[in-house]
Amino acid sequence: MKDLPMVLLRNRKADRTTGLQEYRTSGGYRALELALKELSPKDLCGMVVDSGLQGRGGAGFPAGRKWMGVAEDAPHPRYLVANADEMEPGTFKDRVLIHADPHQLIEGMLLAGYAVGASKGVIFVRPAYGRMAEILEREISKAREAHLVGQHILGSEFSMELEVHRSGGRYICGEGTAQINAIMGLRPQPRETPPRTTEKGLWNMPTVLHNVETLACVPHIILNGPDWFKGLARSQTGAGTKLYCVSGKVQRPGCYELPMGTALREILEVHAGGMRPGSRFKACLPGGASTRFMSPEFLDAEMDYEALRRMGHRLGTGAIIVFDETTCLLRATVNLIRFFARESCGWCTPCREGLPFVEELLDGLEQGRGTREHVEMLRSMADALCNAFCPLAPGAAQPLESLLSCFEDEVLEHLRLGRCPYQTR
Ligand code: SF4
Repeated sequence: MKDLPMVLLRNRKADRTTGLQEYRTSGGYRALELALKELSPKDLCGMVVDSGLQGRGGAGFPAGRKWMGVAEDAPHPRYLVANADEMEPGTFKDRVLIHADPHQLIEGMLLAGYAVGASKGVIFVRPAYGRMAEILEREISKAREAHLVGQHILGSEFSMELEVHRSGGRYICGEGTAQINAIMGLRPQPRETPPRTTEKGLWNMPTVLHNVETLACVPHIILNGPDWFKGLARSQTGAGTKLYCVSGKVQRPGCYELPMGTALREILEVHAGGMRPGSRFKACLPGGASTRFMSPEFLDAEMDYEALRRMGHRLGTGAIIVFDETTCLLRATVNLIRFFARESCGWCTPCREGLPFVEELLDGLEQGRGTREHVEMLRSMADALCNAFCPLAPGAAQPLESLLSCFEDEVLEHLRLGRCPYQTR
């Protein structure tokens, strides 16, 4: 579409991956050359802080502030981790990015590594992305042959090794501290913070973790400047572009690169082609399974971190899952809770015991066996889940809480009829 910035997906092709030479021809590795010749690590940190880049993995934490979290006198070796675990339901942007342009991620990692003084970078890849792991290993080795990875990169004093780590395959491995444990061969269980991973991460050394999309933004910021990056956004509070993954009852599900802060309505109606014929929008999850259902009154919301936060919602990964008026949201919530219950690491009680209990209550309600008392129990369970040790259970509480508060009539209709009004089973 005309006049839309194409930054992260500019080298995307329908049938193949962009190789090293093609990436260089398109301007790739120029940011790294510039940084190693003319910029100090502190300069890079300052540019990323000024750009307003927020972590694209879900939390939206400012990337530059994370870099600043590594103290100047912090010990070495330091590590960088690129999180390509991407197990949040509905999310597939990192797969698209790696398949389209793996050197963009590699260059982003080298720049981030230079900024924080990391000598080793690990790309943590989920098992379902075996093909992406192979692509990365092949392209890292080509970059090493071209003196872009390894010792004395481009003849400079900066050295950094990169390697791919294949995950054992649990959702919890996407949580930063659990991922650190997984890479070290330990049980992938979240750790208590502080200390933050920027102080004590891999092998107790300073470690910076970023999502793939976050790192892919870095070369463009260094080459074009922080103001250019900020100016790409459509909202006041956003910066850059965002990869929105759209799935569900739309005509053209897919991964769309659009200015951060593009309205939900435009994403769905213009880019994703609108609802399927005969379907009407009922609700969506705006950022994967651990976000709240958004009803039609939010269709004009600007899809950026701050704008949604002000409305009581979360952008999460930007994976928009769309439901139409024929979908039972109670059944959809049962499916989500079942997923979270299965993926619980079992460490803390609210999550380990709470999620299966919630699933049972919801399932009974959906099948017409529920009571008002069960609805009230679910409300208190939505609160109890928020007392868990890591963000998995509070994330699971998001769709549950919004189902009970925004779609209460639909829940009560199941009670009144003694069956599911949508007859989906
Ligand atoms: S909330 Fe508790 S049990 Fe659930 S994944 Fe996190 S640490 Fe494990």
